[in-house]
Amino acid sequence: MAVLEVLQYPHEILKKKCALIEKIDYRINQLINDMIESLHSFPGCVGIAAPQVGCSVQLIVVDASKHKKTTISHGLMILLNPVIRMQEGEVISGEGCLSLPDYTGNVKRAAKIKVSAQNRMGQPIEIETKGFEAIVFQHEIDHLNGILFVDRIISLKKDLFRRKSYKKRKE
Ligand SMILES: [Zn+2]
Repeated sequence: MAVLEVLQYPHEILKKKCALIEKIDYRINQLINDMIESLHSFPGCVGIAAPQVGCSVQLIVVDASKHKKTTISHGLMILLNPVIRMQEGEVISGEGCLSLPDYTGNVKRAAKIKVSAQNRMGQPIEIETKGFEAIVFQHEIDHLNGILFVDRIISLKKDLFRRKSYKKRKE
């Protein structure tokens, strides 16, 4: 396993729509393991999408279980080809991103979602969640469509903030 370098805005890969994963081969399995390790290398990090580590495929890893804003959590989730099937309600909350380490912003998201995807064995799964975990899923799935949280900010003047300092990555 390896900790991967995270691409920063405005890298071109971050703006591309990612390819569907049709076969879970050795390469995809290794990418999953490396993304899990990379996610855990950032204190407080709750999600990472494959394009952030330079692979333009539809894969996200989410683990919101330890975050203080989390109410419902499914633990560590590895989702291939995730699609939001249902969304309900509306929330505005502060978001940050490893690919935009110097900023945070207020983004409007659905309060409750249903996501269908495949797990790392290729089996279909469906997750229903709300609150902070639902926001994390929406943020990471956006990455697979080339969308960053800054693209969803309504007023760059009022809703985008400079971050004072990002917690240091574990050595
Ligand atoms: Zn992000």
